Amino acid sequence: MQDTTTFKLIERISTLLRSEERKKYAAIGLHPIHVQVLDYLANCNHHSDTPAAVTEYFGLTKGTVSQSLQVLERKGYIDKNQDSEDGRVIHLALSVRGEKLLNEIQSLDVFSQAEEALTSQDFSTIGEALKTTLLALQKANDAKSFGVCHTCINFDEEDNHYLCNLTQLPLSRSDANKICREHILAEVE
Ligand code: SF4
Repeated sequence: MQDTTTFKLIERISTLLRSEERKKYAAIGLHPIHVQVLDYLANCNHHSDTPAAVTEYFGLTKGTVSQSLQVLERKGYIDKNQDSEDGRVIHLALSVRGEKLLNEIQSLDVFSQAEEALTSQDFSTIGEALKTTLLALQKANDAKSFGVCHTCINFDEEDNHYLCNLTQLPLSRSDANKICREHILAEVE
């Protein structure tokens, strides 16, 4: 399998997971970055639990991080404590509420469901594993596959002419290589 295909599969798995995250976090009034900051704070040491370190870790602007920290503090997910030796330094820590939240949401349901579908299978290539992973995640997430047209169950080819059986419209060669929201995978290769 070509590297570009592998890259695209990884990209699509990543997009699907980000979308799943966004939905899940939006339901509790948070953005993915808020949860990522909580996760970072749950895992960083005492030298790394400052707003400056969070900014550095995520490569975001001070303003963006500051806003995220304000949201997390307002919602009671983090506590701010002054350094015992240097009053100018603030340490951030998960509150009990923050720890509870992180434990509850860390395991994305969609992943557990997809894992069940994958555990019994053997893969000979990374591409095959990624493709099956993507399909399992899409199924668990009830998501559209957005697959490439020529791999769709409704794709028809005759004498180098292409047709979509769903719409009964002709497809160009270029159309055949584009992704489609109505795509249904013809078969797992
Ligand atoms: S439904 Fe979409 S992906 Fe499937 S053949 Fe028609 S245009 Fe292509």
